[in-house]
Order: sequence, then structure tokens, then C-alpha cells
Amino acid sequence: MKNDLLYNQLRSVFGNVLVASKDSSIVIEGGVCTSVSTKLNKKPYAIRSYGEQYRVNCPFCVTMPPYTPDTGHHLWISYVYNTDIVYNGEVINFGWAPAKCYRRDCLSKLSNKKELFTLIQQAGKNQTITISDEDTVDKNEIPEIPFPPYIALTDSAVPAYVHEYLEKRGVTAAELQKDWGAVLGFTDFYKNPALVFPIYQRNAYVSWQARYIGDNIETFKDGTPKPKYYIPKNSKKSWMLYNMDRAKYHSPGVLVEGIFDCIKVGEAGVAMFGKKPSEYQCRILSSLFGNSTLVWIPDENDPDSVLTATQTAEQLMRSKLMRDVRVVRLPYGDPGTFKRSELWEIIKSGL
Ligand SMILES: [Zn+2]
Repeated sequence: MKNDLLYNQLRSVFGNVLVASKDSSIVIEGGVCTSVSTKLNKKPYAIRSYGEQYRVNCPFCVTMPPYTPDTGHHLWISYVYNTDIVYNGEVINFGWAPAKCYRRDCLSKLSNKKELFTLIQQAGKNQTITISDEDTVDKNEIPEIPFPPYIALTDSAVPAYVHEYLEKRGVTAAELQKDWGAVLGFTDFYKNPALVFPIYQRNAYVSWQARYIGDNIETFKDGTPKPKYYIPKNSKKSWMLYNMDRAKYHSPGVLVEGIFDCIKVGEAGVAMFGKKPSEYQCRILSSLFGNSTLVWIPDENDPDSVLTATQTAEQLMRSKLMRDVRVVRLPYGDPGTFKRSELWEIIKSGL
């Protein structure tokens, strides 16, 4: 736990507090000065990722139209809320800014912001604690993966066979573009253009994955077939969970293997780019769904995938990383072969 004092203050005010992204640090941008000139037009510090957050039922949702109480713990408060942190040798305090109501954006009203601040301050008898934030993640640790050249999927220059392929997979170009940011990309890996999906994590672009279009897969020079999916070499695949920024607001979250599976699930889906989550991915899953429910759908074509899901789900619950992981079995195939409505009927029958 990053800030016990704040956590206890929130408990005394709100009762039930859920913890999200447990033990992860905020990520700060800007404010780094290397010379006098940069010091002069120094940019203010900004938070790129809020790190560990405490979730409570938003007290302001009843004062905002349509005036119904929040029951989903939509008010998220970062562990650095009104807390001094040491960064680059400087003490920074972001005050009451690192908090947000994800239901009605109640804290965009200044009076609500002030009220929340007072509410928590009173519970904590005006104490302040200092957290040294030496372990703040430096964005330089994440390698920059350049995005390939592309055209929009809805561009009239997109060949007809692309649309035919998408139709066969039960999706449309417009949907992939609007909901998932997919494009027709020109990669170094395939000769033909491929479907390219950008990957975002904690609201920052981290990498991309390409899906070859059609069944007539290209071959390498030695004649061996290329894989259907390609992810750039420097990508930290074991760090990534596709669609986690959106899925975290859903319960249950739905864990699947690939991007296409995730698209079929919809907003609640997360893809791990393989059949077994890495230790780091397990920690992210724990922070996102540890207190709620995670549904895990393995690929029924692959007995090893089913076995891995069953065993890992048990381990996650035994180790208390996750409270509730359900392995939901499909009648056949992977989630990518089903319609969204069919998938959700299967998911609901497993809850
Ligand atoms: Zn609210």
C-alpha cells in the first residue's frame, strides 16, 4: 500500500474503499531542467499515470443530473492526493487534482473539489506525509516503437478484399477504426498491407500489432510460412495487456489471448498476446480485477491453453492476487469465431 494515511482517511469517510493498481507509482512528465535556458521556460510537472488509486462511491453523483447515487466506486483518488512526493530532488504536491469521478465527471465542479478536500482533511486531522517516489517509472524505460505508415481503413483506396476479409470475420472497417483505432498499415514484415492495431497502456501509446489479411499467408525466403500476427521486436509483450485502460471499468473483465478475441468481447476484454499471462501481466490483472471478477476464455482448439487457464486461475486465487477468476469454456474454437452477443451469453452462463 502506497499511502496508508490517505487510505484510512477515505475508509473513515466512505466506509468501503477498493484499491486499484496496487503498489504502482505515478508517472510524471515535464519539469526536468538540464541548463539555465530550460530552467527559464520550465514546463510544469504533469501526471501521466496516477499509479495506485483508491476507489469510493462518489458522493457528488447525487447532486449531478440525473441525481442517482453511485454504487460502482466511480470516484478514483490517487495515492498522491495532497501528498508531498520527492521527484528529481524536488518536493512536489499536486494538491487535490489527482482525483476523478469516472461516472459524471463530478470533480470538474470546483465546489465539489473543495468539498472532497475538506471531507478528507477533516478525517486526517490535517496531517501530511511525505512519500519518496524514487521508484517512479521513467518513460525512457519504455522503448519507442515507431508506428508504420498507414491509411485509414475507411479510405476509398482500401482494396475490396480487405472488406471481404473483415466481413468474414464478423467485423466492419468502420467499427475497427472507430472503436479500436485499427488502420491498414504498411509494415516491414509483410509484403502486403496488414491490419495494424495500436496498443495503448495507461493512456500512452506503447506499440502495435499487425494481423495478416486473408488465409494465403506469405512465406519467408526459405519457404517457411510467416506467422499470422506480428508484433515489433522491441515491444515488451509481457508488460502489455491490450485494452486494459477501458476494460478496468468493467466487471467482469474478460481475459482472452489475441486482439481479435478481445474485439469480439468488446470494452470489457483484455488480450495478453499469448495463452499464459506473465508475472507482470498477473500483477496488472490483480490491480484491475483483484477485487471483482475476471472471466478467462481459453482457446478450445488448444488443450494446453485450457489447461494453462485452469491451473493459473487456481494459482491466482490461492495466492490471493485475485478474488474470483472463472474459466469459461467455449463449445469450440476461440472467442474470435463468435459473435459478441453469443460470447456474452456464454460468459453470463458461467457467472
Ligand atoms: Zn460522481
